[in-house]
Parts: sequence; C-alpha cells; structure tokens
Amino acid sequence: MKEKIHPKYGEAKVTCVCGETFTTGSTKKEIKVEICSKCHPFYTGSQRTVETGGRAEKFRKKYGIK
Ligand SMILES: [Zn+2]
Repeated sequence: MKEKIHPKYGEAKVTCVCGETFTTGSTKKEIKVEICSKCHPFYTGSQRTVETGGRAEKFRKKYGIK
C-alpha cells in the first residue's frame, strides 16, 4: 500500500458534550461533537423511551418503528 498518499489522514479523538470520547478516522486530530452514538436518541432507542415515559413508545408503535 502507498501510505504517503494521505499523509494527514489518521486517528482523530472525538469528544462529545455528554463526555463520551472515541476515535475515528479523520484528517483532523480532534473533533468536538454535540451528539454521539451514546446520547443520540436514534442510537439509544429503548433507553430514551423509558425516560420520556412511553410517549415515544406509542409513536414507534403507530409508525411501526421498533
Ligand atoms: Zn454524546
């Protein structure tokens, strides 16, 4: 492999406002995000359903989202 084609591409440390940190491939060394896979409703799914008291649950059933 020709590694010098993308000399600046490497691992970037991503920091979320929720405190979660993870690494991803990027040309930047540090990335700050406001939402991540740990706190995004789409990813947390069932956990957020409990927090919102079932409203999301009904919404999911109505539209067939599991
Ligand atoms: Zn987060």
